[in-house]
Amino acid sequence: MSAPMTRDPAVAAACLVAGGLVALPTETVYGLGGNALDPRAVARIFEAKQRPFFDPLIVHLADRSWLQRVAQNVSPLALRLAEKFWPGPLTLVLPRTSAVPDLVTSGLDTVGVRVPDHPLTREVLRLADCPIAAPSANPFGRLSPTTAQHVAEQLGDRIDLILDGGACRVGVESTIVRVEGDSLILLRPGGLPIEDLAPFAVRIERPTTVEEQLPTAPGMLPQHYAPRTPVRLWKAGETWPEGRRVGQLLLSGTADPRAAACEVLSASGELVEAAAGFFEALHRLDACGLDMILATPFPERGLGVALNDRLTRAAAS
Ligand code: AMP
Ligand code: MG
Repeated sequence: MSAPMTRDPAVAAACLVAGGLVALPTETVYGLGGNALDPRAVARIFEAKQRPFFDPLIVHLADRSWLQRVAQNVSPLALRLAEKFWPGPLTLVLPRTSAVPDLVTSGLDTVGVRVPDHPLTREVLRLADCPIAAPSANPFGRLSPTTAQHVAEQLGDRIDLILDGGACRVGVESTIVRVEGDSLILLRPGGLPIEDLAPFAVRIERPTTVEEQLPTAPGMLPQHYAPRTPVRLWKAGETWPEGRRVGQLLLSGTADPRAAACEVLSASGELVEAAAGFFEALHRLDACGLDMILATPFPERGLGVALNDRLTRAAAS
C-alpha cells in the first residue's frame, strides 16, 4: 500500500515531528525527509532507501539563520554563498556541530546543508522547526524522482507520507561544494551552474579520480542515478546496435528512424528546460520495455555539466 498524499504542509510537519518519513518537493528533486536531529528517523531513511551508511545526507534548513543549529566556524565565503544562492540548488559542506548525529554525516566532521527553494517545503521546515535530512526519495542508485507520482511508485510502500508539490522546477540534484578558505572544491555538479560560482571563489577545484571523491562524496559513486534499462552514451554517426529495441534521449533534434522510442528534452536546445525534464524522460523511457537507451551527451556548459555527470553514472551501471 502506498503512503497517503497531501498538499498540506502542516500535516507533513506533524508527521516529521512525530519521527515519520515524508517525501518533500524541492526545486531540484523530491527528497525523503526525516528530522535530522533524531537518529531513529535518520536510520529509517537509510533503511527505506537501502542506502549504504557511508553515504552522508544533506540537511535542509528553513533559512540561513538556522546555520548555527548544525554548522560551526562558517567562513565568510560560505556566508556570502548562502546569502547569494539560498534558497536554491547549492549545498555547502561545512564543519558540523555535535548536534548532528553521526549517521547523518557518515561520521565525517562536516555536514552538507542547503535551503531548498520550494514554498511548501520551506513552510514544513518552519512549522516542524527542525533541520530535515533528505536524500533523494528513490531507492539507492536509481533514477531520482521529480514528481510525487515517481515517489509513490518507487518508495511509496516504505514511507509515511508524500507531500505533493507538483513537478520539480530545476530537475537535477543540487551542486555540492566544500568551502576551504577562499577556494571551493566541487563535489558534485548540479542545479546551480559552476559558472555562477566562479565570481565568488579564487579557485574551484574538481576532484578527478574516484579515490579523491570517495571519502567525502559517495553521491559521486561511479554508478548512480540509473534507470533499469541499460544506458549507453551515443553520438550521431556512431554504430547503431542492430536487432535491439533502442530508445533515444536527445537534447534537441529528431529521433533516428531506427529508434523504437525517443525523448527530446528541449526543441530549442535549452539546457535549463532539458534539466527540468531529464529524469522524467528517463522514467518514461524506462517504462517502454527497451533493450537499451542511447543518450547523446550534452554541451559541457551550464546545466549540461550536471546532466553529463548523471548520464555518465547512469551508463556505468
Ligand atoms: P543525495 O541527497 O542522495 O543527492 O546525496 C547527498 C550527497 O551529498 C551525498 O551522496 C554526498 O555526495 C553529499 N554529501 C552530503 N554530506 C556531505 C559531507 N559532509 N561531505 C561531503 N559530501 C556530502
Ligand atoms: Mg540521490
